Amino acid sequence: MAFIDKVLQTPSYGWQHENGELVKPSTGQLFGEAFSRINIFKTRKNWISLISWVMAACMVPFFVVFLRYYFSWPLMIAFVVYAMIIMSTHGTIWFHRFCTHKAYTFKHPFWRFFTQNLVIKTFPEEIYVVSHHVHHVKSDTPGDPYNPKGGFWYCMLSDVNHQSINKNLDEADYNRAYHFMKHTGVQLNTYAQYLKWGSLATPLYTVTLWLLNWAFWYTVFYLIGGHGLACALFGAAMFWFVLVRAFNYTGHGKGHEAHKDGIDFDRSNLSINQTRPGLFSGEWHNNHHLYPGSARAGFLPYQLDLAWLYIIGMYRLGAVSSYRDSKKEFLRKYLAKQ
Ligand SMILES: [Zn+2]
Ligand SMILES: [Zn+2]
Repeated sequence: MAFIDKVLQTPSYGWQHENGELVKPSTGQLFGEAFSRINIFKTRKNWISLISWVMAACMVPFFVVFLRYYFSWPLMIAFVVYAMIIMSTHGTIWFHRFCTHKAYTFKHPFWRFFTQNLVIKTFPEEIYVVSHHVHHVKSDTPGDPYNPKGGFWYCMLSDVNHQSINKNLDEADYNRAYHFMKHTGVQLNTYAQYLKWGSLATPLYTVTLWLLNWAFWYTVFYLIGGHGLACALFGAAMFWFVLVRAFNYTGHGKGHEAHKDGIDFDRSNLSINQTRPGLFSGEWHNNHHLYPGSARAGFLPYQLDLAWLYIIGMYRLGAVSSYRDSKKEFLRKYLAKQ
């Protein structure tokens, strides 16, 4: 079995039937799987999936306090901007382009840490990174962790059901998975520690960073705008954290061919360039599937790419030392012949 086929933990319902067709679990099966994957009493190795949901649950009270005691329209605008633009652009800059695709490099680890913590901390990096490599290899086919053909809940619950690493890797395969994360600065387990915890990241690092990050941002927001602003923005982070999963479904046409001529040039998978995720977070997803290693994904004149503006801005300031940019190649290859 190839490494990419076994690096993720196979769900109890499996990826594909014997005839090669995708297994489409029922919504009940998907929720059943989710609760078994976060059950820390079953095995301590479930900690990393559990912590991701605990983080989301810990954000709920902030949201409730915001609505109940501090709601105002200016704060609501801050909420929307933070959830839809700031959190989502950061997701592209950090989880997607840096941690997964290594599209640019930092001059000094300080700038890596700075970029990692630019917003309120949500998921542990490995949940995004390892599974996203699988997504690119197996887009829209069985084994794709957020295969849109599996349906809405298949994608919404994929972070716990399909995105954690296999708990039974041998040492050579663990080292290959380790390689996906080595450059991120996340403190990683040795193979012996992995056998105990079932994850790449160490629990101590993950929890410490989470608490320090939240304490820092709550203090900053409180000093700027009191408990009202702090609660609004923590609520906004929760909104992004939950709703970003829907992007994995809509960004691949909800499982149907939805390409448009002159917009979506990659026809080898179902990914599409959507206006809202594009303008708000730089996720021009069809362009991205053509050039996954590019630090820029907005190629056409109207395709604003805020994540790219951050990366190139940091380059000009000297914080980013190198980047890849496939815009010229895209224009030459796909637009010159039109
Ligand atoms: Zn995709
Ligand atoms: Zn990608």
